[in-house]
This record gives sequence, structure tokens and C-alpha cells, in this order.
Amino acid sequence: MGRIQVLSDDLANKIAAGEVVERPASVVKELLENSLDAGATDIRIDIEAGGRRLIRIIDNGSGMLRDDALLAFERHATSKIRQTPDLFNIGTLGFRGEALPSIASVSRLTLETRAEEESIGSVVEINGGKIFKCEERAFPRGTTLTVRDLFFNVPARRKFLRSEQTELAHIASLVTHYSLAHPDKAFELRHGNSELLRVAPVDALRERVYQVFGSRALDDLIDLGSQQCAVPGDGEDAEPAATYQLSGFISRPQVQKSNRNSIFLFVNRRLIRDRLLLHALSAAYHNLIPPASYPFALLFLDCDAREVDVNVHPSKTEVRFQRGSFVHDFVRDALREALIRSRPVSSLPLRESPQPGVRLPYSDFTQRLQQQEPVDTNAALELLKPLTKEQEAQLPEFVLKPQQQVAQAARLDFSGESIAVTNDAQPATPPVAAAISPVKLQLKVPDTHGAFPREAILDAPPSMEVLGDLRPLGQLQESFIIAASRDGLWIIDQHVAHERILFEQVLRQWATGKVESQQLLIPVILDLTPGQWIEYERIAEQLLAAGFETEPFGQRTIAVKTVPAAVAPQEAEAILNEILEIAEGEMRRVSLEDLRRGMAASIACRAAIKINMRLDPAKVDYLLRELAKCEYPMSCPHGRPVALRYGIRDILKSFHRI
Ligand code: ADP
Ligand code: MG
Repeated sequence: MGRIQVLSDDLANKIAAGEVVERPASVVKELLENSLDAGATDIRIDIEAGGRRLIRIIDNGSGMLRDDALLAFERHATSKIRQTPDLFNIGTLGFRGEALPSIASVSRLTLETRAEEESIGSVVEINGGKIFKCEERAFPRGTTLTVRDLFFNVPARRKFLRSEQTELAHIASLVTHYSLAHPDKAFELRHGNSELLRVAPVDALRERVYQVFGSRALDDLIDLGSQQCAVPGDGEDAEPAATYQLSGFISRPQVQKSNRNSIFLFVNRRLIRDRLLLHALSAAYHNLIPPASYPFALLFLDCDAREVDVNVHPSKTEVRFQRGSFVHDFVRDALREALIRSRPVSSLPLRESPQPGVRLPYSDFTQRLQQQEPVDTNAALELLKPLTKEQEAQLPEFVLKPQQQVAQAARLDFSGESIAVTNDAQPATPPVAAAISPVKLQLKVPDTHGAFPREAILDAPPSMEVLGDLRPLGQLQESFIIAASRDGLWIIDQHVAHERILFEQVLRQWATGKVESQQLLIPVILDLTPGQWIEYERIAEQLLAAGFETEPFGQRTIAVKTVPAAVAPQEAEAILNEILEIAEGEMRRVSLEDLRRGMAASIACRAAIKINMRLDPAKVDYLLRELAKCEYPMSCPHGRPVALRYGIRDILKSFHRI
């Protein structure tokens, strides 16, 4: 007798279970997918002990015919595909016919089911893959699957299970996200006696997001709406070869997660892990959030079933796209546009305002009163008086007539788009800080006891749109611009703001081919490492397009003859080193566009005004105006926030006025 044997069905099922049933959440996933495939509109899931003791899923789907109830537990038994071509056009979540036999081989399973067209239902009980009971029984239409004692007969697997809480968290996350993929269906998830999720059918994804995460989460999210994209067909009047649709929610850049756990990708409503889509997502956030952080994303990509191969992995969590790079670019650009359109802003983190009930002990209070310096009432009254005409005339002009004054100064100091702010710039007008006190916020201040007028309390979410109306108040630590708008107080990081402005200017100049460069009197000579040399040869053309005219100058040495107008000659070497590093690190994987963005970020960072630098009012105003023009003014190319806003609502709250 030979040495090879065909494995028993039982063993084959246990092997398949190793791939399909990794943990309780994978059982829930398979059963949930079956219920959805069966057209259920109401799905209830009961869990005990994190899924180890019990997983029960009750659906109102099509149910199974009596003849099918047992057959479903045969390996490769499925009602979802019949022939090979079906494999490339899969419209259901399941198709492999492996889940039920796999789960049944590693648990004590009970199936109760009845199909619409039959008057009596069936019950099947299977213990560790062995049929224990199979009989007829009255049952409402639909299917109930109960899985008890998962892995009771494979102790090795049981050992790998994590704590009850961890397993439960996986289940909850899975059910939550399938509920988001199917807003029109009711879902309920219970653990023992506690209800973890219960959502009624709704019309729109937005409402389901609200049901699941609450209204506050919606403030942090951008609704993608429905973005379509078609692959052109052959010939002029041809139908499109394929169409893709993207919908869902992504977080605004101020939401930054330290891992990918908040990214949920669905392709044709199937929850998947996919490197291509993950990459498109991070490319969309490139330069908007710091490199090691991740957004929240709930993305639904829908397309013709023929466009994706779902038969890649037994757990069906991976897919292969026919037109991978098309999909990648479509998703990246759609997300990026949505991010740009939303232009939100970080708000100033506020500590909890003190509890009004907490008071100092009376004695302490009087004691402190007694120790206080006597108040100079005259000076105090003086402060309250409105300014006289003469006093107003003495105020720095910058405060009273910002538009006029600044327009003039801008013409003097800044030549068009390419500004050169040098480090030795001295303020021409009195320091901006001097202007702080006389500026009044554009708010109606009520009398001391009155309530704040309602119309002044702006409920709108913070937006960078008001940037155009910002009125500069001064500079803090010679690093941050303080400004006021109708909706609050703003703090703007001058370096980061300028970096964002230059970054966009540089990209715009490249896009329009209007790059301004300056000739260096003495070329800068750079010695490159072999790695840098290889990259240099590859990107020399890009460098030229960016305003760096270079030429080889001996072995692994280059001469830099021109640099972009915004760049100081002494920064050329540092910038080129940075660019070559980006190219070395990323070029092989990322697109030319990403390389360009990296180059622009590097130029912008080096050319931007620094912190600890005094700015005259004209420059402050220039920065604010240019920032307002930015497509994406809220963060620097490296993802740091540009501005913080202390919203009027928060101010009022902190003063206990609302
Ligand atoms: P697959 O889903 O890949 O077809 P499964 O092993 O998960 O394989 O299920 C086998 C078959 O059992 C399915 O094809 C389907 O016909 C039937 N089935 C499973 N679960 C349900 C359910 N909840 N309602 C109706 N039919 C079901
Ligand atoms: Mg299935």
C-alpha cells in the first residue's frame, strides 16, 4: 500500500475550519453573510461568554428547504454558484460552500429553518461534525443557527482565543460595520443580558451612522455622497467598460488614529482588507495628517461583480481588482476632493470649565479681599469710557483700517505670488502686539446681568471659510498670530501657515508651468551617495520642472545652477538632500504626483518664515489673506494644524453665559 491517503471529510472540514473559523467573530461573519445572502431584513445575534459558549443568529430570510437543510453541511455544498463562469460574477457574499461544514466540525451546532414555500420546518443538530439529530418541526419562516462551545473538540484552537472582552469586541465591531453596510435592515446584538447594538431600518447611510455613532461623530466626518467614475469603453459611442461608485464617510484631518482599526472598506458590501484601497486612502490624506497616523474611514466601493475577483482567500476578506490602478486613483482623488471641499479647522482644546457649584470657603475669600491693593477707581472708570476721536486717531492704523493699509504694504513688500520673506525683516509699523487692546470683537456685548443674545451664538461647525474675514489682533511669542472673527478667537502658527501657502503656490506653479527660479551666482556642488545618484538620474527632469537646474559634475557629483525663487541659495543643499531621500524611500512605490508633493513640501518648509520672528502687520495680513485662498488651509504639508479656534460658543460656555 502506498503512503498517500485521502483525508476523511471530518479532517478536511477541520482543516478548512482552520482557515475560515479563526475566532468567534469569524463564525459571526459567516453566519451574518449567510443571513444577508438569504435576503433577511431583520437579524438578531445573541452572544454568550464572548462567543465561546454561544453564538446564535436569528434571521427572517428565505430559510432552507427540507431537502437542503442537511445538504448545507456537506463540503462544497452551495446554492450560490453552479458553473465555472459564475465564479467570476459573484453577487453574493458566500459562494464556497465551506462555512457551515467548517463551523459544524468544531462546535455543537443547531440549525432551525423553514422556507416560505414549505409548511413545516427542519431541525438539524451536529456535534463536532457528527449528525446528531435531523427532524421536522414547526418553525416561523427564516433561519436560526446556534453555535455552542466553539472549538470544544480542538483544544489547540481554544487556547488561542483571547479574553472574552477581546473576542466580544471583534464581534461587536464586525456586526456594527455590517449594519453600516445595510442601513435598510434591522440589526440587534446582545451579549448575555445586555444590548450592544439595536438599529431599526433607515433610508440613508447618514442616518445609520447617526444611530450607531451618535450626532457628535457626524461632526467629525465628511459625507462622501455618491461619487461615480466610468472606465471609457472602446470606440466613441461605446458604453462605458465599467462604472465604479464610491460612498461612505471619512474623518476630517483633525481626527488622527494611531492604528488602522477605524478603517472599514467594503467592496460590493463585503467587508474586506485591501492594500490597494488602504494605499489610496493614505495617499488622499498625504500631507494632511502626520505620517504615522490614520483616519477613520467607512468606504463603500460598488461595481460590477465581474470587476473584482473575490476568490482570493478562504475567508473572503481579500479581493483582486481587474483595474487596480484605475480604482486606486479614482478612490484617492475622490477622497482628496472631498477633504478639500470640507476645509474644516481644529478647535482649541478646552479644559472642563470649573463647576459653578464649587466655591472658595467664605473666610478665605474675605481674607484675600482684605489683602488686595485698593482699587484705583478713576483708572478703572477711564477704561470703560469710549475712545475719543483724538484717541482713535492715535491708534496704530493697522487696527482701524486693515484693508487699506495692508493693500498698500503688500504691494511694497511682496511681489505677486513669489514672496520672499527674509529673516531680517523688521516691522515698519509699531509692533503688532501694541494693537491688541483697542480692537473690539464684532459681538454685541449684553449688560452684565443679561443673557447673551442668541443670534450671536454661532452653532455652525468651525470652518476655515471665515479666514478671509479674520482681523489680526497681534502676535504671541513672535510665533503665533492671534486673530478674531465673528465666530471666535483664532491662533495661527505663522510658520505652518506660510508653509501651507508656499506648498500650494509651488504646486500651482508647477501645474501651470510657471515656475520661477533664480540663477545662483556660484553653483552649489553636491556630492551624492550611490543610492542618491541613482535617484538623481531618475528624477533630474522633475527637479528641473521644479526650478532646480542641475547637471552632473564629475562622478556622483552634481552642480546646482538655479533654485526655485522662494528658496534661499543656502537652503538648496538641504532641500535637495531631502528630496532625494523622499525619492529613495518612496519613488518605487508611489506615483510621480506624490513625489512632487513631497518636493513641494520640502521647498515650502525650508522657505517659510520661521517662528520666533516678529512680523509687521502687512505680513500678518498677507499671510491671512493667502491662507484664505488656500485650497486646504487647515494643516501643513506634514499634517500639523495651521490654526486653532476658540469658538464663541466655547468662550460663552467658559464664562458660564450659556
Ligand atoms: P455558502 O454561503 O458559501 O454558499 P455556506 O456553507 O455558508 O456556504 O452555506 C451553505 C448553504 O446553506 C448556502 O449556500 C445557503 O443555500 C444555505 N444557507 C446557509 N445559511 C442560510 C440562511 N441563514 N438562510 C438561508 N439559507 C442559508
Ligand atoms: Mg456562507
